[in-house]
Formats: sequence, C-alpha cells, structure tokens
Amino acid sequence: MIYLVEHFFSIQGEGRYVGVPSLFLRFGGCNMRCEGFGCSQETPSGSQVIGCDTVYAVNREHFSQNWIEIADASQLTAVLELYDLPPNVDIVLTGGEPLMYADDPVFIAFLEAMIAKGLRVTFETNGSMSVDFEKFPVYKQCIFALSVKLENSGEAYNKRIKPNTIFSLATNSKEAFFKFSIDADSINIGLDEQIEEIIAHAPNAQVYCMPVGGSKAEVEKNAEPLIEYCKVKGYTYSDRLHIRIWDEVHGV
Ligand code: SF4
Repeated sequence: MIYLVEHFFSIQGEGRYVGVPSLFLRFGGCNMRCEGFGCSQETPSGSQVIGCDTVYAVNREHFSQNWIEIADASQLTAVLELYDLPPNVDIVLTGGEPLMYADDPVFIAFLEAMIAKGLRVTFETNGSMSVDFEKFPVYKQCIFALSVKLENSGEAYNKRIKPNTIFSLATNSKEAFFKFSIDADSINIGLDEQIEEIIAHAPNAQVYCMPVGGSKAEVEKNAEPLIEYCKVKGYTYSDRLHIRIWDEVHGV
C-alpha cells in the first residue's frame, strides 16, 4: 500500500530548480530514520520524536494514522485537479523516501500519467533504493535529486551509501544531481572525504550543499559556514528558501 502524507502547491525551495512552481507529493515511510539530524517534533499523541525535518513522513508508528492510503493511481492524478496549476508545473515526489514504492504498479501508473502530460518529474531521494530502469522505462524520463546521507545523519555507512545504486540512478535517469544537508559543526570533521567518496560514484552530477535545519534559526546558523565551505570546494550552495520564508510550517 502506498501512503501519501500531504500534497501542496508551492515553489521549489532547494536544489537546482529553486523557485520553480512545483506540486509536491510527500509519501510516507523511509528506509532510514536519520536521528542524527536531531529535529524534534510533537506526535499527534503529544509525545516528542527525534529525526529529520520530515519525521512526520518517516515515523510510521507515531504519524501514520494521518497518512492517506493510495490504492489507485487516479487518487494521485486527482491531486492535480485540486489546484490551479500552471501548465508547466513541476511534479516533485518527496518523503520520507518515495522510492520505497518504486516497483508498485499504482506508483508506476501515476509516473507514466505525469510524463505523458509532458510534466517534469523530480524525485527527492536518499539515493539508497534501486530502480529497475529496464522494467520501468518511465524512470528514464525522471530527474533524481540525490540526497545521499552523510555521517551527520546517524545512519550506518552500509545503509546510506550504495555505490551501484548511486551510479545507476545518475547514469540511467534523465538528469541527476547531489544535494547534501550539512551543519556547521560537521564541516571540519571529515566532511571532504565523505562527500568526495560519494560523488565519485557519479562524477558528472553537480553537487549542491544545503544547510541542515528544520527551522529558520537552524538554517541561518549553518548557512554562512557552509557558504565558505562551498567557496573553497567549488560546490554549489543551495539555500532552503521554503524554511527561510515559512520557517517550521509544513505543507507550504
Ligand atoms: S533519508 Fe531523508 S526522509 Fe528518510 S529519515 Fe533521512 S532525511 Fe528523513
């Protein structure tokens, strides 16, 4: 069963297509937890959980009662009718980890419908889940923003870095680029080696570095040290425009 957490029409806030009008569909579930990011959120029952800035789309135990069950692709295509969208709107599939559903026929049917409409489809993925490009050629028409996790995520190395998967996503897709979430404290403790090792698996993919943060204050704290780091390394700094503007408000 596919779970949809939320959908909203906004602008892309980070990465290559920042500022582009985009319809976001956030899918529930993830193969990681990334508690190292240390973002805290209150659950519907009033307790606090720690995780990434979208822990409400990751933590099935505490949040799935609010997720929408998707049994048919028409439920997803119907989302487009809820908004007054421009004809060239970007479709952004995020999570959680949207590639949790990579082999699901309902998910594939939705992707095919979006591509048939001529829309640009971008996956925001942690780059650890493989896609069968030969069985499902629709993925060759999609873009992959590879947010491969670093040590600061708290996840184990073998879980977060899958060299063959990174290479496959980068070389079989229409387009791929890296997006790394980095906090100021991590910059001087082996970050270079971590990033260089990952990007070696897809040498032609551009590298974007974004400040870690689930709030405007956290993003601001991490931004300037990260800009200095990008200037030295030649990576592209990406702000997190949606957090700057809307702070901790979700679904905007
Ligand atoms: S991989 Fe992404 S969505 Fe999953 S827990 Fe980590 S930061 Fe959150």
